[in-house]
Amino acid sequence: MSRSKGHIVVLGAGVTGLTSAVFLAEAGYEVTIVAAHVPGDESIEYTSPWAGAHWHTHATPDDPRACDWDVQTYEYWIDLLESERKDLNLPKAGLKVYDSYKYWDFPVQEELWWAHHVNDFRVLASHHEPIHSINARTQEGAGRIEEAVMYRAIAINVPQYLLYLQERARKSGAVVIKSRLSTATGLHAALLEAQKEADNSRGKRKVDCFVNATGLGAAKLCADQAMYPIRGQTVLVKGEAETIFTRSGSDYGAYCIPRPGTGSTILGGTKEKGVWSETPDPKVTERILKHAALNVPELMTGSDGGFEVISVQCGLRPGREGGARVEKEVVGGKRVVHAYGHAGGGYQNSIGSARLTQRLVEESLSVEAKL
Ligand SMILES: Cc1cc2nc3c(=O)[nH]c(=O)nc-3n(C[C@H](O)[C@H](O)[C@H](O)COP(=O)(O)OP(=O)(O)OC[C@H]3O[C@@H](n4cnc5c(N)ncnc54)[C@H](O)[C@@H]3O)c2cc1C
Repeated sequence: MSRSKGHIVVLGAGVTGLTSAVFLAEAGYEVTIVAAHVPGDESIEYTSPWAGAHWHTHATPDDPRACDWDVQTYEYWIDLLESERKDLNLPKAGLKVYDSYKYWDFPVQEELWWAHHVNDFRVLASHHEPIHSINARTQEGAGRIEEAVMYRAIAINVPQYLLYLQERARKSGAVVIKSRLSTATGLHAALLEAQKEADNSRGKRKVDCFVNATGLGAAKLCADQAMYPIRGQTVLVKGEAETIFTRSGSDYGAYCIPRPGTGSTILGGTKEKGVWSETPDPKVTERILKHAALNVPELMTGSDGGFEVISVQCGLRPGREGGARVEKEVVGGKRVVHAYGHAGGGYQNSIGSARLTQRLVEESLSVEAKL
């Protein structure tokens, strides 16, 4: 460890903190992760396990940084899958490529800037399947698919991916400490507390930089008024869908994301800005299943002809006015790189965001930036 490039304490073990930890540890830093929740835990304060999740960019051309993050992640995951295919001894990340359909019940207004960054993109006409069959099943007066595209995208078995990231970070020497940092006394006090946790676990050593990847927890930890939750309710059902779809209706959104290798599928879902409650709404569950019945009836395998529901859950996306905060700061003489507020795109942002975090850590530790 004496030859490490520096000791970095990462606060948070969601997809953002763990991906940052992997990149930093593999680049030669000594990494300690301090987090209230770690892979395997379930809590409304821990967003990453509740995600669908898949690659489906929400970035728009007026946010080139987020567009770039998403493209970097797409390319990285495709390469990772190719490596897994070539070397069967590699640990499996829990990713899989699927045909991914995007449907609109109205003329497309958004710019599909990402079309030339993804594999096999094509525009589908209304006579193409599955659009034709879905519209044929749709009752008179209900929304019909007006426009559709198809491309190859990645779905993520999120519990497996989080464990995979944690193990990859550990393999490069990272240590994971489960501990909740007090939010009552501000970020500087929390950094001192995290440093103490690291000292207790690893022996006394200087912390050269902190990475703050606390997701929605940063709202309290940093008193960041720009943070807000975007609640998402989903239904996990039996049966693994063969394709991904997302659909934008006039007054609803619907999606279906197979969870690779688990024989189950996530059906969604809601985007409720400012809602903190973790209790699912039965009416929303009904609505999610009604839309899914139209779009993926092949998953209705229950003896009553309906879906076989495994669980219904809510997660809180870490929304932030102005977008994710990935930037350097010096807090009470301590170097910090913030990496939080990735809203509904934490997975697809993760590789690009973690690379930026690594660069900012390097800049923080550079000679000119010495404290
Ligand atoms: C229903 C739903 C569907 C989604 N689908 C997708 C999708 O398809 N694609 C996609 O890219 N994204 C998706 N997302 C968004 C994605 O899940 C989030 O952007 C991402 O999980 C945020 O990760 P994070 O690591 O920043 O935060 P979190 O996962 O919340 O991790 C925060 C970490 O910080 C720790 N922490 C916080 N406060 C403290 C403290 N005081 N002391 C110690 N530790 C602390 C927590 O314990 C945790 O370890 C979805 C989210 C939801 C809810």
